[in-house]
Amino acid sequence: MNNEELWKAVLGELELSISKGEFNTWFKNTFIVSNQNGRVVISVPSGFAREWLENKVNMHILQSLKHLQSDIQEFSCVIHTAEQKSAQGQQFIQTQTGFASAQGTSGQQTPQRQSASYPSGSSVPYYPPQAHNVQAIPKAKQEHTLNPRYTFENFIVGENNELARAACYAVSQNLGQLYNPIFIYGGVGLGKTHLLQSVGNEVLRQQPDIHIKYTTADWFTGELVESIRNQKVAEFKESYQKADLLIIDDIQFLSGREKTQDEFFHIFNTLYQANKQIVLSSDRPPQAIPTLEDRLRSRFQGGMIADIGRPDLETRMAILKIKTAERHFYLDDDAVRFIAENITNNIRELEGALNRIIASCEFHKITPTIAYIKKTLGNIIANTKRVVSPERIMKMTAEFYNIEEEDLMRKGRKKEVVHPRQVGMYLMRMELQTSFAAIGKYFGGRDHSTVLHACEKIKDDLDENLRLKEEVTSLKEKLYRE
Ligand code: ADP
Ligand code: MG
Repeated sequence: MNNEELWKAVLGELELSISKGEFNTWFKNTFIVSNQNGRVVISVPSGFAREWLENKVNMHILQSLKHLQSDIQEFSCVIHTAEQKSAQGQQFIQTQTGFASAQGTSGQQTPQRQSASYPSGSSVPYYPPQAHNVQAIPKAKQEHTLNPRYTFENFIVGENNELARAACYAVSQNLGQLYNPIFIYGGVGLGKTHLLQSVGNEVLRQQPDIHIKYTTADWFTGELVESIRNQKVAEFKESYQKADLLIIDDIQFLSGREKTQDEFFHIFNTLYQANKQIVLSSDRPPQAIPTLEDRLRSRFQGGMIADIGRPDLETRMAILKIKTAERHFYLDDDAVRFIAENITNNIRELEGALNRIIASCEFHKITPTIAYIKKTLGNIIANTKRVVSPERIMKMTAEFYNIEEEDLMRKGRKKEVVHPRQVGMYLMRMELQTSFAAIGKYFGGRDHSTVLHACEKIKDDLDENLRLKEEVTSLKEKLYRE
């Protein structure tokens, strides 16, 4: 493996364990400069990137390097300069197309060649990394760190995300007028970043001159810290306060950072009062973000909150199909079903599995069979638990409480059915992260707030009620047994 192949393989692995937003932010324009005597040097474009690679994801990187080449002992980062790059004749690793891929040597790179890797018909301006001089990208242009790959068109709608998707779409058509802020939450790899970026890309498509600011709470913090160091806080704030649309991903990372929350609060208010749209995402609802100032929490709760849950089998299959097509790869329906049935946790894992299959098939120049896929995904599949579906939860809950499944769906308010219903809802939420709206549908068309209330009630009661705890534990065991 040469340096380029090694780094490409590392990025392929890291993509599975790091959120896509972070991945794109921090690994763009990185490459291995040298690999000698067990020591790897990675070239990065900025001080932020170096700090993050060396301090936050260092273990992931080292593990992955070692895994691919066992004699590697350590790594360090250098910030690249133009000379370094041309002297090394290094190759750019361009991560924006998702599956990290090495492009031609920097000397031969032309903007045309890079634009060609973008989806055709995309009207989003794309500013390719400059091969010889990173600074050559105009500052103003860098502000759109939107990835044109994420659009509403290639976002598959399922029961797990339809509310969140509809809200985001509506907002993109009516900036600042419908819901403000809009707050999307859900577990890792379920499509939050994709949705947020879709809002940005859609708005940009319709109004190319509009001022969009997309960032993550982590990046926001980094920028703030840097601006304090350079005594440029006013400029920092201004760059945010002039946005027409502010999108901040992974807002949970504001947790515990008082100074950042304080600055963010002021920016939020300025924009909000000027009717500028704010779009936020988090891995949990506002009330569950620890050490978030109350004033921010209540701002977040003042708009529209929508959750994204885990996708069902059908949705997972549809997503796999679109991802396969995007990669110009072919998998037959049985293969798609097999993968979707076995990888159930989140979509990032699903994509990771697909990446692995494609890489392996391309390397061996073969068309995948189910047996081959099984082998390729071996340890991933072995680690997943028995597949529990919403249907299974309905069935087992009814069985457990000795009632009919229909009783779970009917309107009756008798205690003998209300309690099982609430437990069933709670389990569906906890075990499958099904969205509240979708849970409501399974349980005979109940609304979002009824389900939310049921889940909260069981969660609270579990702390005090030992019998309930036993019930839930044995029901859960039943779910995963056999
Ligand atoms: P999150 O930000 O919630 O951790 P991402 O938005 O990064 O998740 O999603 C992980 C991957 O799954 C991305 O590549 C994204 O394109 C894909 N993905 C998630 N949901 C969908 C969907 N509904 N349709 C198509 N792709 C999806
Ligand atoms: Mg994300």
